[in-house]
Amino acid sequence: MTEIIVVGSGTMGTGIAEVTAHAGFSTTLVDVDTAALQRGMERLLASLRRGVEKGKLSAEDEAAARSRIRFETTFDPSGADILIEAVPENIELKKQLLSSVGAKNEATLLATNTSSLSVTEIAAACVRPDRVIGLHFFNPAPVMQLVEVVRAEQTSAGNIERATELVKRLGKTSVVVRDVPGFATSRLGIILGMEAIRMLESGVASAADIDTAMELGYRHPMGPLKLTDLVGLDVRLAIAEHLTKELGPQFAPPPLLRRLVRAGKLGKKTGEGFYVWSGNDAQKKPTV
Ligand code: NAD
Repeated sequence: MTEIIVVGSGTMGTGIAEVTAHAGFSTTLVDVDTAALQRGMERLLASLRRGVEKGKLSAEDEAAARSRIRFETTFDPSGADILIEAVPENIELKKQLLSSVGAKNEATLLATNTSSLSVTEIAAACVRPDRVIGLHFFNPAPVMQLVEVVRAEQTSAGNIERATELVKRLGKTSVVVRDVPGFATSRLGIILGMEAIRMLESGVASAADIDTAMELGYRHPMGPLKLTDLVGLDVRLAIAEHLTKELGPQFAPPPLLRRLVRAGKLGKKTGEGFYVWSGNDAQKKPTV
């Protein structure tokens, strides 16, 4: 059976591991932080249970998916066919992690779930850069249909094919994009998110009204501020800073975003961001 290691059991890693286990792959979810691993495990198992309650998954499929997942604080890449990293958006961390999978694991496809960083730069730090690729999943990974396959300058044609085939086996749709800052999605998504925060900051409307305007006026399934809460304010701040450096001041993160991140108000994952969260339920805040 194909062995997949997913590194980082935060918002994305947990969702990706659920997808790979559900699709029939033997999956190991890894985190250096024991408490984060425990939270990830609870979220993943609860998500599978919800699938059964909603009739989207049979009890047998849930049990089979559970039996295919292991939760670990360390990993040994020998024997893994595919490694997908979903650690924080920090290029040095990603380089260090993927380059640690040395030459003896030549066959392992090394994928990064980065939202904006250079896959080419990450690949350059690795022993066999031709096997490094971006696999950009969306949040929540079990629900969202798209995976951007990001082709680094060094990625071989064979490994692009392996990645698109994997996405197909996960039941998702891929688009193959060149390795440019923000790819095809984050570049537009961040502009919208940062502008919505600037509008909130300057008192144009409340967070809920800005979101409703885009949901009803433009038929976006979710407004940009609620989406920022879902993604994580710290994650969006890191992407905005990177895109500002790479592409220009139109991506500059507003002071309100920095203030909320400094206060530990990171969105849904900490219970508060532009909304107050209770599970999946977002309540309006009187002021931000
Ligand atoms: P997160 O902060 O929720 O989770 C990151 C996890 O990685 C944490 O649990 C942390 O303990 C763990 N970690 C840190 N260093 C590690 C190491 N050396 N080894 C193992 N685990 C380690 O972050 P996230 O929101 O899941 O984002 C992860 C990546 O996915 C980022 O690159 C981000 O840009 C990208 N991404 C995020 C979203 C989103 O909506 N949040 C969407 C698409 C892509």
